[in-house]
Amino acid sequence: MATVGLSKAFGGVTALDSATVTFHHGKVNALIGPNGSGKTTFFNCVTGMIRPDAGRTTYRGRDITRKPPHRIARAGIGRSFQLCRVFPRMTVLDNLLAAVQPSSLAGQLARAGRREETERARGWLSRMGIEHLERAEARQLSWGQQKLLELAGVLMSEPELILLDEPAGGVNPALINRICDLVRELNAEGRTFLIVEHNMDLVMSLSDHVVVFDRGRPIAEGPPSVIQSDERVLGAYLGV
Ligand code: ADP
Repeated sequence: MATVGLSKAFGGVTALDSATVTFHHGKVNALIGPNGSGKTTFFNCVTGMIRPDAGRTTYRGRDITRKPPHRIARAGIGRSFQLCRVFPRMTVLDNLLAAVQPSSLAGQLARAGRREETERARGWLSRMGIEHLERAEARQLSWGQQKLLELAGVLMSEPELILLDEPAGGVNPALINRICDLVRELNAEGRTFLIVEHNMDLVMSLSDHVVVFDRGRPIAEGPPSVIQSDERVLGAYLGV
């Protein structure tokens, strides 16, 4: 996925300032930067949740700028949210079935498909290690388990590119390890990741390519080993 000159202002506040950036297909990419540097706005623009004021987004050669979120999802891009979007009073299994785009097929076909979807949902729950919770209401799960449920929901649409917004935020260390292992496995199976994350140990150990935002645009990019010692990055974080 790549953007050229992506810009977005909220009133007088520039959230994205002509951001031109390319993320690498087939890799684990990370987007980091201080609070307020535009990371969430970037996610929202490239997934169609908000419209950029200017600029373009392309994915695998197709222009997806200003396409609605469901069209962008259909192009193969899935995302999770910082504050984890699950239906708290629905069961774990129903959350996954609800995550699938409604079928446009006739009712009977849709019902037949539903059995397949249920099996696929169980498959993802088992991958996440939460298959024993399929009948529990989502709100009964721990925060980390809810994040795994949300990731399973994202995977139900079989995205090629997965955007994760703070996957480790508020999650206990054991589940952080599971999330990292899953990202590595899913990446080895061919899925591309773009991760916004504050946990620098996780970013540096998990990602192949790191892009650093400051004030709405990239200021540095490269492999973790290079980014860690980049003076511009240290300056952005320390505010000097
Ligand atoms: P980050 O995710 O890196 O913390 P954000 O994209 O959330 O950064 O924010 C970038 C800037 O845009 C910040 O100054 C923030 O206050 C502002 N901003 C983001 N969303 C809105 C909004 N809906 N209304 C007004 N200002 C916003």
